[in-house]
Amino acid sequence: MQNIEQVIRALCKRVIAEKETLTSLDQTVGDGDFGVNLERGAVAVLAALDRPQIQEPTDQLLSRLAMTLNAAGCGTCGTLISFGMLAGAARSDDLATFLEAALGKIMQAGRAQTGEKTMIDALQPAVVALKNGGTLEEAAKAAQRGADATKEMAGAKGRSLYSGSRAKGTPDPGAYLIATLMEEAVHCGR
Ligand code: ADP
Ligand code: MG
Repeated sequence: MQNIEQVIRALCKRVIAEKETLTSLDQTVGDGDFGVNLERGAVAVLAALDRPQIQEPTDQLLSRLAMTLNAAGCGTCGTLISFGMLAGAARSDDLATFLEAALGKIMQAGRAQTGEKTMIDALQPAVVALKNGGTLEEAAKAAQRGADATKEMAGAKGRSLYSGSRAKGTPDPGAYLIATLMEEAVHCGR
């Protein structure tokens, strides 16, 4: 497994590589700004990683990167992910507890539950898989199944609320993002 910095770098690069797909999903489900928003966030986080702090523990690194992401102003999803990273930072010694804390904060801040066509639908099954002792690969598969399931959901939170039947058959952009990042993390672990 690579170190956390290398993993975050790989995740940011994947976000940038996925820009067009993220944009096109949000054009159907939301307002089309998802790719641009997240690219801005990923570029800001990569720049922050290029300014390493001396002897920075993991929790402080994650908090600093979360605040960088938040300050970059990357829409609802970027803001919620930054909240989740901040909440998870103190529990970052283990991926399951980190993601569990992040999920709890994102659900509280966004007032979303599963089944509402959001990133929660990919993140929650991944957390359950890890908490049940599953591997990262199993968690990534659970996230992918969760993201696929959002295709048939009607949006209930965020801008997908206004997409109506237009978004039927298209996965939620945030759920697609989470599944993609989990898949990338699996690659990093190989
Ligand atoms: P916006 O255009 O509204 O600023 P983004 O395009 O940045 O939003 O992000 C859209 C994604 O954010 C959605 O695909 C969804 O996964 C996620 N999202 C939106 N609202 C919520 C919410 N209340 N709780 C959880 N996730 C949400
Ligand atoms: Mg949007």
